[in-house]
Amino acid sequence: MKAVVEAIQASALMPVEQALDQLLALADAAPLREVQTVALAEAQGRVLATDLVASLDLPPWPNSAMDGYALRMADWQGQPLPVSQRIFAGHAPQPLQPGTCARIFTGAPVPQGADCVEMQENAVLGDDGRVTFLQALSPQQNIRPQGQETRKGEQVMAAGTRLGPIELGLAATLGHGHLDVVRKVRVAVLSTGDELVEPGLPLGPGQIYNSNRQLLLSWLLRLGCDVVDAGILPDDLARTRACLADLRDVDLILSTGGVSVGEADYLGAALREAGELALWKLAIKPGKPLTFGHFQGVPVIGLPGNPASTLVTFGLLARPYLLRRQGVAAVTPLSFPMPAGFDWPKPGNRREYLRARIEQGQVRIYKNQSSGVLRSAVWAEGLVEVLEGTTPKQGDSVRFIPFSELLG
Ligand code: AMP
Ligand code: MG
Repeated sequence: MKAVVEAIQASALMPVEQALDQLLALADAAPLREVQTVALAEAQGRVLATDLVASLDLPPWPNSAMDGYALRMADWQGQPLPVSQRIFAGHAPQPLQPGTCARIFTGAPVPQGADCVEMQENAVLGDDGRVTFLQALSPQQNIRPQGQETRKGEQVMAAGTRLGPIELGLAATLGHGHLDVVRKVRVAVLSTGDELVEPGLPLGPGQIYNSNRQLLLSWLLRLGCDVVDAGILPDDLARTRACLADLRDVDLILSTGGVSVGEADYLGAALREAGELALWKLAIKPGKPLTFGHFQGVPVIGLPGNPASTLVTFGLLARPYLLRRQGVAAVTPLSFPMPAGFDWPKPGNRREYLRARIEQGQVRIYKNQSSGVLRSAVWAEGLVEVLEGTTPKQGDSVRFIPFSELLG
């Protein structure tokens, strides 16, 4: 990517949608092309690289939806019918003998010549081994026809589908032992700040524990990324430059901290030297400042350092970018309207994402929405969106995005 973007706008804040559109356009311009063929058991969380086409009809033959009796309707005139065969799932039946019925079990192939199945609850087996049917029959009842679910040659999943338990179950139903998937996206995680110490080590004066590293490493693994832990980077330009230069073989460098307004911005300085930098002031709270650039061709996203800002900007902006790099089409988290269980009297010029949870059919917000407070997000079940310039009151409709939609 050649274009040099230097967009430091003093006043105008970039709307969240615009930032997302730009990031997705950048992702679309740099798709991962390598395809790997992996066993179904290894495909969890991967992204389908090619359309999946059914190689057979589903079901492959007409089968019984019930435990009961298969018969030809025309043979049933009110007289009991003898049972000429028993058909279990997994066994091939004989053609149905005229004037008889077949005992049949769920999932077993319907014998040639039968045109309906009656469930055993509506049939009486007499002492003489003959069956009487208690209710009127209708053609094809309780028969799952061949190809009802899927026809051979039909596309059942498009390239770009993320493979979870349900998708893998469908691939298995169709007999695919292996799938073509996009290679994993490789992401380096970098925490910047002189104040940071890894958990488990003693804290010195003025120091805090590094929470973003763990937050992002765990999150990226859940998103199916290959993760490179680039550790803590001190606030120093030469070290920043050297560190970025070391991370040449990743698809994205994801950094946190050092992008706040007013702070010496070493990440920004290093990217500016390398020629490509965009500094965005987003209309989002928490998380106003966000950096995008390239260092020697490697994309870099710099998220704000406050843990709740990291959470919100990663979830709403970096996550969709990473999914799109792998070709995922559907990157928008599902959200739904809920009645507000709070008053928001002061309209903001940034879109707020409040840590919130659902109680008694309403969205309640955590009492402290400071961007440094990760505890708010542990209490919460998701984010509630308060649009720019709005003042929702108790009972007004607000949009809720569950964490479950963002974390996987
Ligand atoms: P910065 O963007 O570097 O100015 O950081 C903003 C705030 O987030 C400061 O209070 C930092 O100490 C804090 N912060 C930055 N990075 C981390 C991190 N990795 N873990 C916890 N807090 C952080
Ligand atoms: Mg910092």
